[in-house]
Amino acid sequence: MAVTTIRKTTAEKTAATLTETVRQGFTWEGARAMLDGLPGGALNIAYEAVDRHVVAGKGGETALLWLGKDGRRRPISYDELARQTARFANVLASAGLRRGDRVFVLSDRVPELYIAALGTLKAGLVFTPLFSAFGPDPIRMRMEIGEATALVTDAGTYRRKIAAWRDRIASLRLVLILGDEAPEGCVALGPALASASDRFEVAPTQPEDPALIHFTSGTTGQPKGAVHVHGAVVMHAETGRYALELTPGTRYWCTADPGWVTGTSYGIIAPLVNRVTMIVDEADFDLERWYSILQREKVEVWYTAPTAIRMMMRAGKAAATGHDFSALRFMASVGEPLNPEAVVWSNEVFGRPFHDNWWQTETGGIMIANTRAMDIRPGSMGRPLPGVEAGIVQREGEGLRASRDGEIGELALRPGWPSMMRAYLHEEARYKKCFVGGWYLTGDLALRDADGYYWFVGRADDLIKSSGHLIGPFEVESALLEHPAVAEAAAIGIPDETAGEVVKAYVALKPGVEPSEELEREIRGLARKKLGPAVAPRAIVFRKTLPKTRSGKIMRRLLKARELGLPEGDISTLESDET
Ligand code: ATP
Ligand code: MG
Repeated sequence: MAVTTIRKTTAEKTAATLTETVRQGFTWEGARAMLDGLPGGALNIAYEAVDRHVVAGKGGETALLWLGKDGRRRPISYDELARQTARFANVLASAGLRRGDRVFVLSDRVPELYIAALGTLKAGLVFTPLFSAFGPDPIRMRMEIGEATALVTDAGTYRRKIAAWRDRIASLRLVLILGDEAPEGCVALGPALASASDRFEVAPTQPEDPALIHFTSGTTGQPKGAVHVHGAVVMHAETGRYALELTPGTRYWCTADPGWVTGTSYGIIAPLVNRVTMIVDEADFDLERWYSILQREKVEVWYTAPTAIRMMMRAGKAAATGHDFSALRFMASVGEPLNPEAVVWSNEVFGRPFHDNWWQTETGGIMIANTRAMDIRPGSMGRPLPGVEAGIVQREGEGLRASRDGEIGELALRPGWPSMMRAYLHEEARYKKCFVGGWYLTGDLALRDADGYYWFVGRADDLIKSSGHLIGPFEVESALLEHPAVAEAAAIGIPDETAGEVVKAYVALKPGVEPSEELEREIRGLARKKLGPAVAPRAIVFRKTLPKTRSGKIMRRLLKARELGLPEGDISTLESDET
């Protein structure tokens, strides 16, 4: 853990949006007052994200710069977005949909996805994004749990994945199909938008009215549907400013798909509320394409995930040389622990480090972050943002005890921030169980050092207990990643008669490296040196890839289930998985 600190210059610290003065003066009422709101105490996410800027005379600025797979490039202004989302809201209203109805969107990252998201919110309906690569079963399961009223998708997806069981979703009343033609029983969105009015009176939603349902990634088990309210926009606005340095006009790229909470909170709401120009790339990860986008579009703020960063590292520094990344001023990462190696690597390649931040679907927004003004301790996820009270606690009987500095415990948050989930759909008991002794328990293990930096240890389910030691997979994986041949690693505990559990690691190698017994010994040797014999893996297995969720998270539980011959559980979010 004792990795050299990456220090920020005084100029960097001074330029940062979140200063100590801001931190000390922070209140949620103050953050709310920076938004406009609507008469009668109403607050609507879409109004704050789009129409507010038009009212303020900034409608000509570019809201969204869409990059098509085929090379097309389409800027969309705030004015245009306001009109298109009004049209979409009118389409929903004229189909008889009402406040609180649920609109599911299953689409590639095309402009209509963003129009549908914001138009749904404008109409006071609940937006539920699904990842477009899901198969029929995961889609159906989520639409059933979420009681979908409407679905927006493309004709091919509808025919292949939905038509066969559509009638079984009793709540489903409207299917909108992208483009100009629609299969029977569906409505073509193109003509519907064209004939709808581009004026719509934004629904005067109250801050506690439901706005979004997000399904969790399914890393630890069956995905849960987390309900979020319009008031969450206060959190999105604030964290966009302080954790991501979003200010009006910033050229910002969030690589997450809106099918996951990051792609909505920070790929739609936070950037637009802060009036940035957000880049939306329709295509999936491609190293050369990504480096070209950063350069050509002069991306200033970039928010991505460890899985993508590891893919860049896998390709090596040479692949990045020759590109001009000088527009970049801030880079952040979320979704999984960011290995220290990745922070150091990015600092060398981009001239700036990735700033790790932590949150989850349930929290709706960033809670703990490395901010621009902070010196970075690679491997740490940073410190709680203003308005967020975090703690590390131990469960003791029915209650909790605060952990000491440096003691591993469960990461807990004091409820009260605006984007906290208000429910798990149909799982009230599970929701209630998250709250103990005035804290929300996150299910993640972490520790806090004497300076208030938080360090991720692992998910509570993934903790390895070996000869009285508590071992977090992250620590083991980070040590393995320091070996130049290792591209990705996952550590799990397997039963052992004497030690209780011992560590076993799965490793994917960099391109061109062949697995061998000698290499296995060498990597284990390095791990032993870094971690000590009690913590280092006893065995390392080489695999082409590691099983991951579609949002890019390593599924350790699956490796463990397979290792122990146990049922695999819910694998609805599993991406391709070759051994
Ligand atoms: P499920 O709850 O269905 O098992 P999930 O927890 O992966 O899936 P998300 O809400 O998308 O679903 O992910 C949040 C989790 O991701 C966090 O609780 C944490 O375990 C992990 N995570 C996110 N950011 C970080 C980070 N910066 N460092 C370490 N872990 C992180
Ligand atoms: Mg979770």
